[in-house]
Amino acid sequence: MAFESLSEKLNAAFKKLRGKGRLHEADVKEAMREVRLALLEADVSYKVVKDFINTISARAVGADVLESLSPAQMVIKIVNEELVRLMGSTNAKLQISSKPPTVVMLVGLQGAGKTTNGAKLAALMRKTQGKRPLLVACDIYRPAAIKQLETVGAQLDIPVFQMGTANPVDIAKAAIAHANKHGNDMVFLDTAGRLHIDEALMEELKNIKAAVDPAEILLVVDAMTGQDAVNAATAFNDALGIDGIMLTKLDGDARGGAALSVRAITGKPVKFAGTGEKLDQIEVFHPDRMASRILG
Ligand code: GDP
Repeated sequence: MAFESLSEKLNAAFKKLRGKGRLHEADVKEAMREVRLALLEADVSYKVVKDFINTISARAVGADVLESLSPAQMVIKIVNEELVRLMGSTNAKLQISSKPPTVVMLVGLQGAGKTTNGAKLAALMRKTQGKRPLLVACDIYRPAAIKQLETVGAQLDIPVFQMGTANPVDIAKAAIAHANKHGNDMVFLDTAGRLHIDEALMEELKNIKAAVDPAEILLVVDAMTGQDAVNAATAFNDALGIDGIMLTKLDGDARGGAALSVRAITGKPVKFAGTGEKLDQIEVFHPDRMASRILG
C-alpha cells in the first residue's frame, strides 16, 4: 500500500518523542525535521511540506503542548489534525444535477486510469445511490479505447454508448439524448487522454464542456506518478476548471505524496480513490481515514 514507508518514518519520529516523557522545544524541532524529510521522501510537494511543517511547528512548540501531561501524544494529534486538513477535512461529494442526467466528465492523462475507474465509479453510484448509469466512449483516437470501455461495461452490466470515431462533442450530445430516452440518470464521459498535456487535447475537452455543461469534471490522476500527478492536476484545473479529483493506484507501493499535495496545490478536493485493478476496488475518499492510515 502507498504510504508504507511514510508511515514507518513518521512512526519512528514519534517513537523518539514518546520515549522522552517531558519535551523541550528542541525535541519537537528535531521531530519536525524528521517529519519534513519523511514527507519530502514521499514526494509531497516542497511548498506543501514547508507550509505544513510551519503550521505544525507553530502549534506544537506552544506552552500548552510542552507542559501538558502527554506532550508526545499532543504533537501526534496535531500532526493528525493537520494531515486531515491538508487533504480537505471532509469528504467532498460528486455534484449531482437537479435535472437528470447528471453528466460526469472524466479527464486525465492516458494511462491514469480513466476508463477503468470511470466504470468503477458508475457501478459505485448504482450500488450506493441507485443510479442508472451510462458509459460513453469519447476517446476516439485509440481504437482499443472503445473496446476496453465495452469490456468493462459488460463486466459490470452497465450500458455503453459509442459512435466510433465521430466527433467527441457530437458523441457527448447524442449520449445525453440517448440517456434521456432510456432513463439513464448519470452519464459518464470517458474522454481521450494523451501521454502529455497538449493544446489540442485541452481544446477538445473545453469544447465538450461547453457543449454539455457537465455537473462534474472529475480529474483522474495516477498517485504513483508523484509530482507529475500534481503538475497534471494543475494544468487540467487551469485549462478546464475541474470539480474534483480521483486518485488511482493507491494500492501501489509508490510514495503516494500526490495524495497529500493535490488538494493544497489545486484547491480542488480528492473525492475518490482507486485501490486496485479489480472493478470493485474504489473508495470514497475520506481525509480523516486516510490520515489514520498514514499515521498507522
Ligand atoms: P486510461 O488510459 O486513463 O483510460 O487508463 P485505464 O483505465 O486504461 O488504466 C490504465 C491501467 O491502470 C490499466 O491496466 C488498469 O487496470 C490500471 N489501473 C487503473 N486503476 C488502478 C488502480 O487503482 N490500481 C491499480 N493497481 N491499477 C489500476
